[in-house]
Amino acid sequence: MSESSDKFRVIIAGAGIAGLATAISLKRISSIPNLDVQIYEQAHQLSEIGASIALSPNGMRTLEKLGVDNALSDEVGFRGPSGIPQIFRHWKTNQVISVDTHTDVPDPRHHTTRFHRGHLHAALQEHVPKETVHLGKKIIHADVSHDGVSLHFEDGTRAFGHILIGADGIRSKVRQSFIPDYRLRFSGKVFMRSTFDASLVEAKIPNLPADSLHWWGPEDNFFASRLGKGQYTIVGAYSDPRSSEELERNVGWDQKGDVKFLRERYKNWNPLIQALTEATPYTNLYPNFAGDALETWIFDSRVTLVGDAAHAHGGAFAAGGSLALDDAFALGLAFKHVVQSCHGKTQISLDNVQKALELYTNTRKPHTDRLLRIVHNQIGTKSSPSGTLEEDAKLVSRMKNRPDTVWLSEHDVEVAMTASIAQSQVHEVKALAREPENQGRLELTVQSERGKL
Ligand SMILES: Cc1cc2nc3c(=O)[nH]c(=O)nc-3n(C[C@H](O)[C@H](O)[C@H](O)COP(=O)(O)OP(=O)(O)OC[C@H]3O[C@@H](n4cnc5c(N)ncnc54)[C@H](O)[C@@H]3O)c2cc1C
Repeated sequence: MSESSDKFRVIIAGAGIAGLATAISLKRISSIPNLDVQIYEQAHQLSEIGASIALSPNGMRTLEKLGVDNALSDEVGFRGPSGIPQIFRHWKTNQVISVDTHTDVPDPRHHTTRFHRGHLHAALQEHVPKETVHLGKKIIHADVSHDGVSLHFEDGTRAFGHILIGADGIRSKVRQSFIPDYRLRFSGKVFMRSTFDASLVEAKIPNLPADSLHWWGPEDNFFASRLGKGQYTIVGAYSDPRSSEELERNVGWDQKGDVKFLRERYKNWNPLIQALTEATPYTNLYPNFAGDALETWIFDSRVTLVGDAAHAHGGAFAAGGSLALDDAFALGLAFKHVVQSCHGKTQISLDNVQKALELYTNTRKPHTDRLLRIVHNQIGTKSSPSGTLEEDAKLVSRMKNRPDTVWLSEHDVEVAMTASIAQSQVHEVKALAREPENQGRLELTVQSERGKL
């Protein structure tokens, strides 16, 4: 990584939402000179599992800042006509008990939006050159040498780069290569999800509300919503008492479920929910795992993580897609700041890579650590013992006392980055001030900062 006209190669592990968005951000935001981005993905073709994904205002704003305007249309994503992101109803009576509202989201295109994952993924793919995405490349290991990083694949080949971004999801092999003893824990819940043509419910269920529907029940919830492009989704859940190891052996991610079990599970709920489960053609199963916050996101000065690889929060608060987009954007902004301080050099140094990764981590990690603390607290406190019905008053009070997540859903990652930059400048100046021989340099820095004001 010397001062030369050679390309600066970034290799990205995984072409999910985080991997694609990172490629877009590095290309459009970072200003890294002579940048060459290559993505390695285990799947043989790029398609997303048939589930839904919700993006909050932070994710929607970031999509726009990344230039992914094609995902903002009313055709690709669904925004409820009321403009209320979450309407919480009682499982039996269907009565609206509480709502989440947007507090500062003036542009309606940034309101919480619900997509079929495949449609969001396809919208991101349109911005990434096909020839830079290498399919059928299952990573088994990553390592670092004095001049770069390598990804090693199951087929015996390897890829080399100056830096590596691990965007390979909750079971990240990149993370495992640098933190081998990191473990995920089963939250005790398995989600049953389905996406299908909206006509299946719209034709059969009269007076189906147009907004997304979120029912809270004594043990689990039920969610139903229109998605973009005429799709519909439902999400149910059940508790599974098995251990993490047993579950991993028996229930695979995206494994076919039994739709009769879904109907049975919700048979005593409000008739509207029963009608929705009757119309649902199939379910797939998603056992929910989460992991602790990592001590660091920087490995050997050349490797970092984005998305679920960095923060394994298991889909809590439907925040993962938006967080992945914000991670990607923050990484681009961090490089932009550092590259702009390189004064026209044609290549960036390892020292500057380290600075960019620190800025990225300082901006993102405290935010996602806060979420992980909430997630692990919730896993530790069960709503009611399995099989017993929680009293109504308790349920309503639990719903009303749910954590306020506006700090998450309306987070402004650009403001957070500006604060990190300011903080790092304060640290630099303080470090200079401690060295008597730096007094002259310090005076120059202060003068230059004054000049900018
Ligand atoms: C049940 C559930 C519901 C959720 N619902 C929502 C929601 O409504 N809204 C929301 O915002 N988020 C939701 N999430 C979270 C969200 O799905 C993720 O946070 C988001 O997709 C971030 O994705 P990612 O790119 O980091 O990881 P992923 O989407 O997992 O992508 C990782 C990519 O890396 C590839 N990969 C993995 N291992 C390897 C390997 N060894 N070699 C090569 N490639 C590899 C994978 O094939 C994949 O393409 C949910 C999660 C769960 C579990």
